[in-house]
Amino acid sequence: MTQYPSTRKNAANIWRCDKCGLAIQDGHGNIELIDPETGGYPLGTSCLIIAHHRRCDPNPNRDAYWIRVERARGAEVLDWIEHLLDKPWFTSANARAFIRRYQDGLCTAEGFKVYENGGAK
Ligand SMILES: [Zn+2]
Repeated sequence: MTQYPSTRKNAANIWRCDKCGLAIQDGHGNIELIDPETGGYPLGTSCLIIAHHRRCDPNPNRDAYWIRVERARGAEVLDWIEHLLDKPWFTSANARAFIRRYQDGLCTAEGFKVYENGGAK
């Protein structure tokens, strides 16, 4: 059973860094969509979703499709998913992973347990 969190508290702190695991504050990092084969800009039929603080990014000069974390909060996440689904490299599985990653951050910030019934975690 998935528990749906409130978005009121800690709403600014929901994207977590893949390196340090801490929340990425506004202006301090990006979500990056990369090609699973090359690690660069997605050119194939799928992508990987990663997020890093700028200070933690092991490859800050990579050519990725990037989104500043402060531009992917709340309803903006729906806008991004709608936009990204037009890309040939953004699949429904990628959309699910994007949503679950966002929900994971929300649930963690709120102290909820995340995803008892499968999914990306
Ligand atoms: Zn970090």
